[in-house]
Amino acid sequence: MEDCIFCKIIEGAVPSKVVYEDEICKAFRDVAPQAPVHVLVVPKRHVESLAKAADDEALLGHLMRACALVAESLGLADGYRVVTNVGENGCQSVRHLHLHVLGGQRLSEKMS
Ligand code: AMP
Repeated sequence: MEDCIFCKIIEGAVPSKVVYEDEICKAFRDVAPQAPVHVLVVPKRHVESLAKAADDEALLGHLMRACALVAESLGLADGYRVVTNVGENGCQSVRHLHLHVLGGQRLSEKMS
């Protein structure tokens, strides 16, 4: 999609630090990490958010599996968090579905 930063990263038009890729998704380091490990798992197909992908179990399952593979490959055996922000109240700043994988330290117990 034009003007979507994550579509540009997926195309390779904008550089990123890729940690995992397959036919469905790409995972790359967040440019402003909020934990020692902060990776975004992003579908290659442009979908705005979880709210717009809720009927696509195959895609959502694939993305969750990719998160687990990324966490394992980056050594997050002590645990990690997977988060997706949705819409205005969820403070979603990039309108292309993405799952944050956060770890590398004990994370805050607060979710909000
Ligand atoms: P969200 O607020 O859930 O929409 O998360 C968007 C995330 O994308 C933020 O954590 C940003 O730091 C990250 N981000 C924005 N632009 C880039 C980029 N060019 N490369 C990597 N991460 C980015």
